[in-house]
Amino acid sequence: MRIYRIAAIPGDGIGTEVVAAGVEALTTCAKRDGGFALAVDHFDWGSERYKKTGAFMPENGRDLIKNHDAILFGSAGAPDVPDHVTLWGLRLAICQPFDQYANVRPTRILPGIVSPLRNVSGPELDWVIVRENSEGEYAGVGGRAHRGLPEEVATDVSIFTRAGVTRVMRFAFALARSRPRKLLTVVTKSNAQRHGMVMWDEIAAEVAAEFPDVMCDKMLVDAMTMRMTLKPQSLDTIVATNLHADILSDLAAALAGSLGIAPTANLNPERNFPSMFEPIHGSAFDIVGKGIANPIGTFWSGVMMLEHLGEPGAAARLMRAIERVTADTSLHTPDLGGNARTADVTRAVCETLAGDNQA
Ligand code: NAD
Ligand code: MN
Repeated sequence: MRIYRIAAIPGDGIGTEVVAAGVEALTTCAKRDGGFALAVDHFDWGSERYKKTGAFMPENGRDLIKNHDAILFGSAGAPDVPDHVTLWGLRLAICQPFDQYANVRPTRILPGIVSPLRNVSGPELDWVIVRENSEGEYAGVGGRAHRGLPEEVATDVSIFTRAGVTRVMRFAFALARSRPRKLLTVVTKSNAQRHGMVMWDEIAAEVAAEFPDVMCDKMLVDAMTMRMTLKPQSLDTIVATNLHADILSDLAAALAGSLGIAPTANLNPERNFPSMFEPIHGSAFDIVGKGIANPIGTFWSGVMMLEHLGEPGAAARLMRAIERVTADTSLHTPDLGGNARTADVTRAVCETLAGDNQA
């Protein structure tokens, strides 16, 4: 029996609710499969810990999880802690040292879900966004001086390296090649940002030569928001910088029906470190504790985790269960316009998994 060690880090807000649901679905999925089991270790890292001890995770935190096979993450963010402190104290404190440079965000309209786009029912919108996840606008380079004085100055410097851009570009081309349409759109802002973004365009052209079977086009990020909204069927795989892809993927999630559904994988493709899987939504203060958080984004992230672990059969089974459940509108949570609760959706997914007789 294959045993995978999973580090569960629920974090803050509804993170705790959806990760609990995710662990339940993944465990049921492993039982149904029979070929593997998950050994889940829970870590209480997050804002509560920060308020008590001054740190989101223990000093040796990364050592405690570096040998796990994967990380399931909830959300980091609390109303009484500044967001930049939380993000850098927990999520980026894991992503960056573990070199999870490829952030992969699939977007589809699942059965039973209605897109806010008129005339888009499903097949017209089937994307994967690859977000550069280790440098760019979120490199953390910059500073402030003369705080509070009239001459105060603040900078955030975007860092683009040839090595960093090339590796994420290769990853995106390879992913595009693995999908039926073999189509990649490279997003930049190389008209206004004439250094780093121009280098992106040049590296994209160089890497494109290594993938002659992948069709490649490029877009400026502002025009890209229009294309996503007006011509969703013209897109397939998309690669963009840390900031641009962050923004575009929230748009993508909204166009596909709800932020509560969207999954993401923070991958270290070389597998030198564990990769991290999480719903793209945050702590959702407005619904925390009500038992109505949509757990689908976490379940779908679990599908990506199973694929990464090398369990494609189990991944496909979990995805089938998700799609059967979303197809039943009586199992929609309030963010999708329904009345179902987190526990109802979780139970339905687990029951569907247990009853799935496909190989
Ligand atoms: P958010 O994703 O928490 O919430 C935005 C809206 O979407 C809210 O109305 C919320 O109720 C709804 N929503 C989100 N997930 C949902 C789900 N699973 N089911 C039903 N409804 C859902 O974004 P925000 O309000 O901008 O951020 C809140 C906090 O979360 C902030 O502290 C922010 O920094 C943090 N955050 C963390 C992450 C992360 O850890 N990866 C990501 C985004 C935001
Ligand atoms: Mn975001």
